Amino acid sequence: MSPQQLPVQIDPLQFGESRRQLDGTLPISAMSRLLEEMVDPDKEGKISISLQFATDSEGYHTVQGRAETAVSLQCQRCMEPVVLKLTAEILLAVVKNEHEVDQLPPHYEPLLLSEGQVQLAELIEDELLLSLPMIPRHEEDCLSFQLTEGPGDLATNEENPFAVLESLKRG
Ligand SMILES: [Zn+2]
Repeated sequence: MSPQQLPVQIDPLQFGESRRQLDGTLPISAMSRLLEEMVDPDKEGKISISLQFATDSEGYHTVQGRAETAVSLQCQRCMEPVVLKLTAEILLAVVKNEHEVDQLPPHYEPLLLSEGQVQLAELIEDELLLSLPMIPRHEEDCLSFQLTEGPGDLATNEENPFAVLESLKRG
């Protein structure tokens, strides 16, 4: 699918009936709560979005797809910024009240529809926030490159920094 201009507001019921597919990007600058979580964020950054609206065999209006972006977070090991790819896998079903939330099959997350329309950016931002890693850190053993003394973190580390170096050399 080629990118399209995404609507600001979506109507999951109507979109589900017509099985709409949305593909496109939103600016990360539109997501202030996500920006607050980031260190030195790339304000020009984009979030790529692919969503399929449908109705399932039980009559639920569903939203399925993913949102992807890059986020700069504070590494909890070395406290320096680390840029991580963030992917939110989305599988929502529309519910109208708390009672319907309780009835929802467990593979769905509820999309509580109080008014007819949903702000697309808000929905995507919620999903991305839920997908943030609890403990962001560099994939490599960032501390062992910085510290010159003591075994410290090395002893407990699952990754062998020399193996990482080897793979970098080979790559
Ligand atoms: Zn680090």
